[in-house]
Amino acid sequence: MTLQIDVITLFPELLEHYADATILKRAADKGVWRLRCHDPRNETDDPHRTVDDTPFGGGAGMVLRAEPIVRTVRSVVDLPRPVIALTPSGRRFDQSVARELAATDGFTLLCGRYEGIDQRALDAVVDDEISIGDFVLAGGELAALCVIEAVVRLRPGALGNDESVVEESFSDGLLEYPQYTKPAEFEGRLVPDVLRSGDHGRVAHWRRAQALRRTMSRRPDLLDTDGLSEADRRLLLEFPEENGPQPNG
Ligand code: SAM
Repeated sequence: MTLQIDVITLFPELLEHYADATILKRAADKGVWRLRCHDPRNETDDPHRTVDDTPFGGGAGMVLRAEPIVRTVRSVVDLPRPVIALTPSGRRFDQSVARELAATDGFTLLCGRYEGIDQRALDAVVDDEISIGDFVLAGGELAALCVIEAVVRLRPGALGNDESVVEESFSDGLLEYPQYTKPAEFEGRLVPDVLRSGDHGRVAHWRRAQALRRTMSRRPDLLDTDGLSEADRRLLLEFPEENGPQPNG
């Protein structure tokens, strides 16, 4: 089934341009997902197609008016739900939210601009609010693209090899182990022997140990508060070395 993603944005061309390349385009061509953009400027009545106005109570900047947003949502009869506003005040987007959205038939992303969107539009037509991190972008379009790419690549058939999403960072609560490709030696740095041994069991153990070590040092917050299992402790002892051997001299 095709995942239907609609985006409400003042800049449809930004979304369409990015979606028209690489994995998103290939996935759309295969029917994995479909993008539709809706511009709230088309739901204005004045000749200047005004979508913003000054904030009540004063302050810097402009606010997106409620009416064009609400009219846009209501004018699309088959708009996929939930309608999700992108905002720094939303719940934090992560791989588990990506998986949650990838399991739906579709959803709509609402991009803000300026100082944000009139609260009454959010109250009237929005089901959920998502933030892609604790920083402030100028608009929701980049945030929407982050969400779209993270979600679409989880859909079956989106990637050449569906295994790719099984072993990557966050899939098992850990950061991913280091990756290597040819040549076996680069500027004196060697690929760890175990990866060239052909012993798949040992490779899997080495990768798990590296993923554990990397997560412990970089993102301990991701680890189970109960601590490491006995099997994982043994793996860390079996592979005490971090990454590959260092360059000579
Ligand atoms: N005044 C708002 C505030 O302080 O929360 C920031 C508005 S921001 C300049 C304009 C728009 O960019 C927002 O309405 C939202 O759609 C988008 N945006 C900015 N940062 C974001 C983030 N971290 N996650 C998701 N969307 C974001």
